[in-house]
Amino acid sequence: MVEPVISVDKLRVIYNQGKSNEMRALEETNLKIFPKEYIIIYGPSGCGKSTLLYSISGLQRATYGNVTVQDISLSQMNEKQELELHQTKIGMIFQAFYLIPSLTIIDNVCLPKIFRGESPSSRRAEGMRLLRRFGIAEQADKFPNQLSGGQKQRVAIARSLINNPEIILADEPVGNLDSESAQNVLTLLKELNDVDKKTIIMVTHNPEHLVYADRVLHMKDGMVVSEEIHEEKRPIEVAQEEIKSDPVEVPNELKMLMHSFKNLSSQQMNILLIPFKAKQLLNHTLSELREEQVNMAESLLKELLFNNIDASQLTERLDADLDNGGAGWNKQRATSFSERIRNIMQQSKNIQESPEAALPGLATYLIDLLHLHINPEQALRLQTFLKQRVESKINQFELKHKLDAPKILGGVGLHKGTAEKLVRELEMIMLLKY
Ligand code: ADP
Ligand code: MG
Repeated sequence: MVEPVISVDKLRVIYNQGKSNEMRALEETNLKIFPKEYIIIYGPSGCGKSTLLYSISGLQRATYGNVTVQDISLSQMNEKQELELHQTKIGMIFQAFYLIPSLTIIDNVCLPKIFRGESPSSRRAEGMRLLRRFGIAEQADKFPNQLSGGQKQRVAIARSLINNPEIILADEPVGNLDSESAQNVLTLLKELNDVDKKTIIMVTHNPEHLVYADRVLHMKDGMVVSEEIHEEKRPIEVAQEEIKSDPVEVPNELKMLMHSFKNLSSQQMNILLIPFKAKQLLNHTLSELREEQVNMAESLLKELLFNNIDASQLTERLDADLDNGGAGWNKQRATSFSERIRNIMQQSKNIQESPEAALPGLATYLIDLLHLHINPEQALRLQTFLKQRVESKINQFELKHKLDAPKILGGVGLHKGTAEKLVRELEMIMLLKY
């Protein structure tokens, strides 16, 4: 069970409590935020968005209730833990950037490391790496007032990342930027979520930004009034309820699968299934090719899945030059790749035709593919668990558990990594049978 990275329990914030100017900025709020989620807190000015964000960051104290970040209760933190939280667990980005005008860009970025007492050379290397990544390396020795707003915000983002925190909090980060710079910064934040797997919580009052989020919390008058889900990243136990109320008709088994492949929402499902399959198949089997070689291969996989070409034509086309409508791979790679795809598709077809009859072959296939050294009893268990998964009696997480549980506890006793690989292969095979 995945634990929330942030829990907000019965949190209330009242400014100037008991005075004539008392302000109830946040009514009782309960929230759970899970690792790798991209959350947007959305609502009109004054509704309490920043108050909620700062309460999560520890910059604002709870009047009542509590906030827990990575198992540490903010109200019970000692000074050292509080410092640690801000230096290494949470990165913050603000609308007004808050760069220090008298420091160069690279020193601004490395500031959090300076506080931690790291050597100048190691911190500069990491800072430069981030500046290069964000396309502002040439600005390293300039001062903040020599940069555009968009550049400054990228510097601030680099600074928030320098100690590699798991969580990024951003308060209206593009509120001061022109639309092009805003777009750049929003893309960058999305990438930090997608690629770097950071948990992101962004505050905004701009409805155009909402598409970026996995989950949008709508706020009004100090309350979270509703929640909008674009991509479910919460653990499956929690997600189940939303799945039931999903208006799109998708088989339950397929919904389970969708949770194992991040790039898809249920609404996209029916229309996009074939290209998605092609992409997953490609991601699953490939690495280290140029983008055009990958793109071409992806089109060819779609052709294959649409039955416009067969496996041997796939091999030929992958091997052919890009100029001649091929994917520009070499013969060896094209051959082994096609072989791999054909095997996966064959297993999938077998299951589709007769799950019962396909199981021994599927087990053998997986044992060979992963070079498993297991005894007949383990193989039998493997086959039993595969059957349960193929029949959707268990989900992929339960399967993984059964695979890596020790033999004496009734598991197959596989290594954790091997169990994971096996599950991924099986999920791919199962996806293809739809
Ligand atoms: P938002 O970020 O959604 O614009 P805030 O969280 O900043 O909203 O503010 C919520 C309410 O609390 C507003 O009415 C604001 O004026 C008030 N407020 C915010 N900060 C303070 C403060 N430090 N002292 C008193 N009132 C505050
Ligand atoms: Mg605000």
